[in-house]
Amino acid sequence: MSSTELPQTMKAQLLESPNALYTLASVPLPQPQDPHDILLRVTAASYCHTDAVVASGSVPGLPPVWPHINCHEFAGEVVMAGPAAAALGFASGVRLAVAGRGFHCCGVCDECAAGPDVERGDLHGDIPGVSAYCRASGTCGLTDPGGFAQYVVVDARQVNRIPEGLTDVEVAPLMCAGMTVFTALRKAAVRPGSVVGVVGAGGGLGHLAMQFAEKMGAKVVGVESADEPLRLAREVSPGATVVDARTTEAKEVGAEGQSRKGVDVVLVLPESQKAFDYAMSILRDRGTCMLVSFPAAGFHISALDIMLRHLNITSVLGGTFAATEEMLQFAAKHGVKAKFETFPLDKLNELVAKYNQGGGGKYVVDMAM
Ligand SMILES: [Zn+2]
Ligand SMILES: [Zn+2]
Repeated sequence: MSSTELPQTMKAQLLESPNALYTLASVPLPQPQDPHDILLRVTAASYCHTDAVVASGSVPGLPPVWPHINCHEFAGEVVMAGPAAAALGFASGVRLAVAGRGFHCCGVCDECAAGPDVERGDLHGDIPGVSAYCRASGTCGLTDPGGFAQYVVVDARQVNRIPEGLTDVEVAPLMCAGMTVFTALRKAAVRPGSVVGVVGAGGGLGHLAMQFAEKMGAKVVGVESADEPLRLAREVSPGATVVDARTTEAKEVGAEGQSRKGVDVVLVLPESQKAFDYAMSILRDRGTCMLVSFPAAGFHISALDIMLRHLNITSVLGGTFAATEEMLQFAAKHGVKAKFETFPLDKLNELVAKYNQGGGGKYVVDMAM
């Protein structure tokens, strides 16, 4: 499609002020500015907990301007590409998966210039001159407009092609939730035979973590404390042990057939001290606690516990472009898919209300609806 065939306006779901509902509006079509810019026709846009955090206005400086268009995990089709984006092969019609981060990275800061830095624990570095962790870069859906709109401008250096075997609606929820837990499992060096705990196993991230860990060959132990998420965790990972934290004590937790209780690695997904305490209690000595959630008040940590049991606490923030590419290939090969419910763009407030009921899984705007 050439630019002359493009509409002048588009439908977008706007956040006009903190704690407001989304408002469907007709706004001017976004204009590419940088040679790397791609105008994307959004096909699927997935809802993340961080969208709720941004909508509440509780993070200083986010979004930098109201009204704001949320959503930092989405997919779409190229309709217009700047010269640098076209040189990378992003012609009209190419299907892309987009993680919000690394929008217009600076190319010169320590992060951008570093290149692969596996020693730092990045798992994969990005090519020199491009970093998902560039401090000067933006995030589509946080600092810049995101995917809850018919069109969005993205940076050719932040996107991944959608592999064969995954639809746009399937790929959108992988771009924050999937990429985050995949990176966490890889960073924790999960390998065949590892025992992995997932606290919050039926949530948006948790039910993906259960699948990725299982397909990596780990013995998986899911922990949940509500009926519907418990059911979902059991459904997506029939080979895993799934325990109800309301009725099972942490010291009893282990994988099926495991002689010694406790897990090698645990992912903490809920934002609650109770969940964190439970996670720390199911770890074996010398185990690794991987923080993925970030409650405003932080977590209280027992230093003595860490010393006596030689525990490690670490975290991840999303993943690099290279890690995201690996995640997508892995998901396509092993059939890792989110359980999701779809809504049309104009029903976004209904999607949010459904998410808030806490049933687990993911909620995705499908633009074809
Ligand atoms: Zn930079
Ligand atoms: Zn997210």
